[in-house]
Amino acid sequence: MKFSKILVSAIVVASSALILNAGDVKKKDFSPVIVIHGGTSGMDLTKEEFEIRRAPMEKALLAGQKVLEENGSAMDAVTAAIMVMEDDPNFNAGKGAVFTSDGFNELDASIMDGKTKKAGGVAMARHIKNPILGARLVMDKTWHTLVAGEGADKLAEKYGLEMVDQKYFYTDFRHDALIKAKEKEQILLDSEKAGDKKKISMLMNERPYLGTVGAIALDKSGNLAAATSTGGMTNKMTGRIGDSPIIGSGTYADNDSVAVSCTGTGDIYMRVNAAHEVSAYYKYKDDNVQKAAEQTIDQIKHLGGTGGIISIDKNGKTGFAWTKKDLGMYHGEARLGEKPIVYWPLETKNK
Ligand code: ASP
Repeated sequence: MKFSKILVSAIVVASSALILNAGDVKKKDFSPVIVIHGGTSGMDLTKEEFEIRRAPMEKALLAGQKVLEENGSAMDAVTAAIMVMEDDPNFNAGKGAVFTSDGFNELDASIMDGKTKKAGGVAMARHIKNPILGARLVMDKTWHTLVAGEGADKLAEKYGLEMVDQKYFYTDFRHDALIKAKEKEQILLDSEKAGDKKKISMLMNERPYLGTVGAIALDKSGNLAAATSTGGMTNKMTGRIGDSPIIGSGTYADNDSVAVSCTGTGDIYMRVNAAHEVSAYYKYKDDNVQKAAEQTIDQIKHLGGTGGIISIDKNGKTGFAWTKKDLGMYHGEARLGEKPIVYWPLETKNK
């Protein structure tokens, strides 16, 4: 056989292998989905209270689901879902954020693209109406990954994001929570009540307010993304930065493993590198996204923290875990062509 003939047959064999591979990828069984959390909840939650809070979560899921259905990216889907919750005063993110010890609202947010592993975060932002858009700007327009304080606000202003006065974020119930927390000299999660001796373990808010928000998604192209936004913890020290804007702690996405968003005692989530820990467990130990979330929550508990984790793996399987004993986690999911589900926060949801 002539050399050229051999070459042609080699190319034909190689390209049919490529075609087969391409077919395999297409046949790959993954299910696009958006998953959100709205922070943690007290155990005294009533069905009526849940119903009130279910509505904005459903709205956020629908916003993300629409993006995915229209062939949008996971990045756009999580941004859309987070913005709905940032605009709703019931959540501790954007409007309705908690107060620092000096009476400021300082907002933290981050976002990560599992395809490119690019990420951005803002911390201690005081004037960006939708901090998640600030996080995207850091990712898209700067060489940096995290920009804090005045710098974050300036960047947002420069690129024309909507800027607001601090009073935009104000809500009576968050301000009352600050006054109570200061009286008792406590730093509180949304789900905690000032004065409780068991702090960090109990949740008896007069009203179980919604908290930090997170969204993770897998789009039709098989790309993962994750985003988180928060006001942090009531009576936190002015200038304190939590896990939510930190890539690997509060937010993480990697197309080879999982997308993750966390809520809870940020100072402990940072020490566990919680969001990345879920990915590492999945990638190197056991590709079971539920177990990966659970073992990470065990580490949070071990260090005295409380909170929850949502995760999706590259196939669209979901993992939900939280510290449970005295806690629930607002969470929900929407698959394409299906009605969004918001789960009763006090029950374990898992598939
Ligand atoms: N993780 C947030 C923080 O520590 C608080 C929360 O999720 O409720 O800032």
